[in-house]
Amino acid sequence: MSKENKSIHEFEMNLICEYYSGIERQGPGSSDITIKALSFIDNLTKDSVIADIGCGTGGQTITLAKNTEGLITGVDLFPEFINIFNSNVVDLKLENRVKGIVGSMDNLKFKDEELDLIWSEGAIYNIGFERGIKEWRRFLKPEGFIAVSEATWFTQERPQEIENFWNDAYSEIDTMSNKIEQMYRAGYLPVAAFVLPESCWIDNYYTPQTEVQKLFLKKYSGDKIAEQFIENQKYEAELYYKYKDYYGYVFYIGKKL
Ligand code: SAH
Repeated sequence: MSKENKSIHEFEMNLICEYYSGIERQGPGSSDITIKALSFIDNLTKDSVIADIGCGTGGQTITLAKNTEGLITGVDLFPEFINIFNSNVVDLKLENRVKGIVGSMDNLKFKDEELDLIWSEGAIYNIGFERGIKEWRRFLKPEGFIAVSEATWFTQERPQEIENFWNDAYSEIDTMSNKIEQMYRAGYLPVAAFVLPESCWIDNYYTPQTEVQKLFLKKYSGDKIAEQFIENQKYEAELYYKYKDYYGYVFYIGKKL
């Protein structure tokens, strides 16, 4: 990468961090859905060891912490998100059993068979669902659980516009049956899979962004990179409203075999 490209890239990354730091969640979801996914997991005690991979600022990690008793480590690539996460943890007096660390999901520092539960909402796409569930499996104790939310097609056929968008954004998007098949192949018993309601996208993800977009357009007025970024975010939301019958997020919960 040239020096100039590197600084453009850095500016973009800082922009993305600033944008998402302004909202509670960095992906579609809700605390009710986190609790619902948790209800399928029956091996947890106060000694459980849990990891939340791609935790962002920790919206769902705090819900996990309030509804389990074990030790929780949130991992995210961006120090800015982890700083917000850890300061929320202190405010909520959870620091004796919850912490955020900076790290990458393709190079996790957990020990083999250390974890009772691996959690990951709206993040595994960064290395791909199939690779993620395969690579992370060794960190789980026998009969440990994995719970991840993942972009999924709801129909066998889709309009070209949305097919093209996803092929570009994340070509591993697939049907539920194929994702479940991948879980079997990776060595898990799929114990549950359920679709996230539209409110997780609209009320908790896209609507909160509209305020941040207005602020950004004012603050970075005339800045081409910032304006393009906001355009892309708006386009993604428009596509969701137009094609939400064709795709969404599904929570997949598997037990290590
Ligand atoms: N789980 C959060 C955030 C989802 S957004 C929520 O549902 O609100 C995806 C997150 O993955 C972002 O916080 C991003 O910083 C993180 N991420 C991207 N690449 C990563 C990587 N290689 N390792 C760890 N985290 C990563």
